[in-house]
Amino acid sequence: MNDRFSTTELRVSEFERYSRQIMLDNWGELGQLRLKNSSVVIIGCGGLGNVVATYLAGAGVGAISLVDGDDVELSNLPRQMAFDRDSCGLNKADELTQRLFTQNDEIDIHVNPLFLDADNIGELLPHHDLVIDCSDNFETRRLINRWCVINKTPLLSASVIGWQGQALLVLPNTGYGCYQCLFDEIPKQKNSCQSLGVSPAMVGVIGSYQANEALRFLLKSSSKLSSHISLIDGADFSVNQFLRTANPQCDVCADMKEPNND
Ligand SMILES: [Zn+2]
Repeated sequence: MNDRFSTTELRVSEFERYSRQIMLDNWGELGQLRLKNSSVVIIGCGGLGNVVATYLAGAGVGAISLVDGDDVELSNLPRQMAFDRDSCGLNKADELTQRLFTQNDEIDIHVNPLFLDADNIGELLPHHDLVIDCSDNFETRRLINRWCVINKTPLLSASVIGWQGQALLVLPNTGYGCYQCLFDEIPKQKNSCQSLGVSPAMVGVIGSYQANEALRFLLKSSSKLSSHISLIDGADFSVNQFLRTANPQCDVCADMKEPNND
């Protein structure tokens, strides 16, 4: 059994490694211990997953599970910085795991080189403090959202396409609804990086934002994303945050009888 779980102190090497973040307000040794005792699952090891996993591993999140059945392609390399030409043709979750191991050998990384689906979601998502959705399609986002709402598991979801990105945090029993309250229909047109393109640097921006919010959640700091959706436009770098409201017709969360904050 790993000695990391429920550990109550940091090793000397950890004090040195994490010294620049431990000195932050609302972080400290207690915050670092919280990260060390935290477990997250990241679905999707492409653009956003690369960035999120790299920052969370670097920051010392104690257990990180990676899920992705996709292989690295040459067209991924402009924005998926954990990969290089030698990665092409190899599984993304495997390749990202190798990168994270070299970055930080004081955490646990669990690799799941397969696509998330309705059959395996019940095995892959439980026992994590936070589910981080870095997937690239509506069907998977809706599947993850449904599981998280039903199982009352916090969900941090983000996406980026073209020059725009968005992020939201869905917490149980807040009254601010779920992902599907906002996106209740799958668009007829395939909206994906493959069909519409994506700015590599905006992937870095949104992934960094998602990583920052994940860390704040694990540190038990407040996040506006728990009640708002953020929309970021890289064309003029505008950031707009809109208060979310639960959709009473939502076929995922409407029956959960969440208390309304109003
Ligand atoms: Zn909903």
